[in-house]
Amino acid sequence: MSDSVSLESLYEDRQTLYDVLDNLPLGVVALSTSGKAIFINQTMADMLKLPLKKLVRSSPADQDHWLRFESDHRQMLDACLRGERIACRAYLLPAKGERIPVRIHAFPLCNKHGDTAGVVILIHNLQEQNVLEQSQREYRYIVDSINTGIISVDPRGYITTCNKTFSEYFGAKSCELMGKYFPDLRAQMGPASSLLMQALQTGQSISLPEFYHELNGQERIFSLECMPLRDESGGISGAFAMVRDISTQRLMEAKVNRAMQLNIAGELGAGIAHEIRNPLTSIRGFIQLLKGRFTNTSPEQEYLEIMLGELDRANNIIKKFLLLSKPQNPKLQLQDLNYILDDMLKLVEGEALIAEVELIRRFSPEVPLMVVETESIKQVFLNLIQNAIQAMPSGGKLTVATEFLPVNNANLVKISDTGVGIPSSLLAKLGNPFFTTRKNGTGLGLMLSYRIVENHNGKIEVESTAGAGATFSVTLPISASHPALD
Ligand code: ADP
Ligand code: MG
Repeated sequence: MSDSVSLESLYEDRQTLYDVLDNLPLGVVALSTSGKAIFINQTMADMLKLPLKKLVRSSPADQDHWLRFESDHRQMLDACLRGERIACRAYLLPAKGERIPVRIHAFPLCNKHGDTAGVVILIHNLQEQNVLEQSQREYRYIVDSINTGIISVDPRGYITTCNKTFSEYFGAKSCELMGKYFPDLRAQMGPASSLLMQALQTGQSISLPEFYHELNGQERIFSLECMPLRDESGGISGAFAMVRDISTQRLMEAKVNRAMQLNIAGELGAGIAHEIRNPLTSIRGFIQLLKGRFTNTSPEQEYLEIMLGELDRANNIIKKFLLLSKPQNPKLQLQDLNYILDDMLKLVEGEALIAEVELIRRFSPEVPLMVVETESIKQVFLNLIQNAIQAMPSGGKLTVATEFLPVNNANLVKISDTGVGIPSSLLAKLGNPFFTTRKNGTGLGLMLSYRIVENHNGKIEVESTAGAGATFSVTLPISASHPALD
């Protein structure tokens, strides 16, 4: 049975063969021994944007050549005709548009007698592949460059993508994570692992606005979003998570918030202070007038003296408040903290006696002298001491302790009471303007104190359990670069 008989019996007509060739996703060209095109498939004509009719019988190396090999055309053809198979890069020159990079495979075309009748060239368009490779490279680069950690898993929970940021956040190399079963990494990945698996199982997006995770020995705040991935038919084809380090953003927000609150408090304070200062001035004047009416030894003289002192204190507080809305011009002095604290405790002795509060001094003689803005720092300690006494309406102990912290080169003042304490839900509110739980409170004392201590580059920390008292720790660096020292 000859080949032609078998083919004719196999295929209904030759058209079927042409259809197959025309539908191949690669160009097919057959050249005669003289180099003329004896067959060209439709894909090839489409790539060249020329009608088939124009191409058949033309030579790719003619004047309007459409195929250029990177090496010599004729040499290539001759090698093929001698029986060699050739694979190389070339390019097409279509009628319109840019040249197209191609990879060609050329081999001899043998007739049914086994004689070489020409050359067959298969042409793969590299343009689409190049574009795809390029876009894949770009995609990878973008995914690795963004400062959001990205990870994805397949429907079974095995990691399919992991960018550089994600691996940095969780102390691993991307390549080490690829292909791992994500739930196995729960200890290392924290909530990312469990929430991503949940998104995968439920098909619902889940986010965690805030979670804490240690990065390079520092606790930082992250946010997490987990989303299912869906295929064209809507089925779950995996899930992915985005992790962002929002510590800086949170810090900025807190700063802006506090600054805004301080601004409002400052403006309000300035307004109120002006209004109050005037009546206080006239009261002061009248008290001084009254003083002239009593003898120096009369008890009234003593009362008026106390009234004057109290008025001056009120005036001082108002002045402090005005400073909040005005640029400060602090007077810095070398001071002994123990001495200042002792002074402040003396001021509240009367108050403490009435409230049955025992005042305990635990002053360390090691505390070095330090530069502070005296009046402001006095205000801080007085605020904290008064708060402590006010927190013990049925008596208790107020301990004021000082300590030198050589490692931090700072002085630490601890003001502890055995009072009502602060519930943990309210701890974050301390220092907010007008936050008070006391009937006659203003909620300004702590705000001012925080501000003053911040100005000294120090910090105030609070420890408390509701019902078990509170401790306010003020750390003041000795070599603080106070704004006025710059
Ligand atoms: P005020 O004293 O006018 O209320 P502060 O800013 O001084 O304003 O204090 C704000 C709030 O902080 C108080 O109302 C109280 O709820 C809480 N607080 C401050 N110090 C203590 C303390 N030592 N013990 C318990 N609560 C305290
Ligand atoms: Mg107070």
